[in-house]
Amino acid sequence: MSDYCSNFNKGLLNDIHNNYHNYTYGFPENNDNKLFEKLVLEINQAGLSWEIILKKYKELYKAYSGFNIIKVANYRNSEIKELLENKGIIRNKLKIFSIIYNAKVILEIQSNHESFKLWLDKHSFLNIEDWIKLFKTKFKFTGYNITKEFLLSSGYIEGAHKKNCKVYKEILRKCPKWYKK
Ligand SMILES: [Zn+2]
Repeated sequence: MSDYCSNFNKGLLNDIHNNYHNYTYGFPENNDNKLFEKLVLEINQAGLSWEIILKKYKELYKAYSGFNIIKVANYRNSEIKELLENKGIIRNKLKIFSIIYNAKVILEIQSNHESFKLWLDKHSFLNIEDWIKLFKTKFKFTGYNITKEFLLSSGYIEGAHKKNCKVYKEILRKCPKWYKK
């Protein structure tokens, strides 16, 4: 999504992107479930357009219990079967199993580090290569692009918005981790 902000400001994207570009992309999150949501959306996006993800957002939200980490981590076979059969979402077995696995990992992180956010904050000094190594050892389905996009979208690395975008200043006011360095 390296041109996402530029394309938005050039008017090349349709209205479905307004909310995401103006209020979500690149904004730091204080809530672990919101961070999990961003990770889930990025995993779902792999190989698809971001527009598909935004179009399916409501269905994804419902299907993954509002991106509640505890609920997703505890999905039983019947709930997994429902996800696999849900035509409203992205029915990719590997993505679905990875998301549930990652929810379990985040629960573990929460019990060892107080919160997913604090754990991410603690690693905010890392460069992108080390972030990717860290995510590869911890999570599933988090390759280079997915990890990078997740970090961009949640304000851990710089570059979601161009400096001349009006959202850039908004985000600076929220003190994203990349800006504090
Ligand atoms: Zn922008």
